[in-house]
Amino acid sequence: MNQPPEYCPYCGTAVTGVDTPVHSVVETPMIYRCESCDDYVFYNPTPGGSAVVVDGESLLLVEDFRSPGEWKLPSGRMELGESPREGVARELCEEIGLSVDPADLTYFYDESGEPVENQYMVGIDYAVPRAKTTGTLEAGSDATDARFFTPDEFAASECSMKYTHVDRFGTDSLDWLLCKVRDALEAGDRR
Ligand SMILES: [Zn+2]
Repeated sequence: MNQPPEYCPYCGTAVTGVDTPVHSVVETPMIYRCESCDDYVFYNPTPGGSAVVVDGESLLLVEDFRSPGEWKLPSGRMELGESPREGVARELCEEIGLSVDPADLTYFYDESGEPVENQYMVGIDYAVPRAKTTGTLEAGSDATDARFFTPDEFAASECSMKYTHVDRFGTDSLDWLLCKVRDALEAGDRR
């Protein structure tokens, strides 16, 4: 379950929380008990991920269709049966029309952001050079615009990074992101 369960999904009996996690940020129980099934119901995070497509000093951002002027990385949730890489590759294709072999995505970061309406996300983030993608850049579903920015171009623009991006990475700095991504790509090339 990705919401705190009130009822058992198997038999519909009301469940009770039996475990409050020990780590500091979450006070909601994560484990619930169904006495009727004599079994547990778990409240779990939802996995997602994003891709940074890098072209020289520029990286690719998309404008969120929900909030004009706010930009983010192409990102989304994994669907059933997908590996994190496969999910991120699919999102890249759906949001901006670029195809990439999931094997060409290089891991660079993972995070868990603040919950939104009780839903906790965990993100796994990958980088890929523009040259390893194919297709024509075009804003698709979920995006009203897509373009490459250098950090300086973005800072000089009217655009801002969406709060969810800032929450996930702890910064809105594109210099930081570009640095992090290039380190990961260079380390990947050395392997
Ligand atoms: Zn039950």
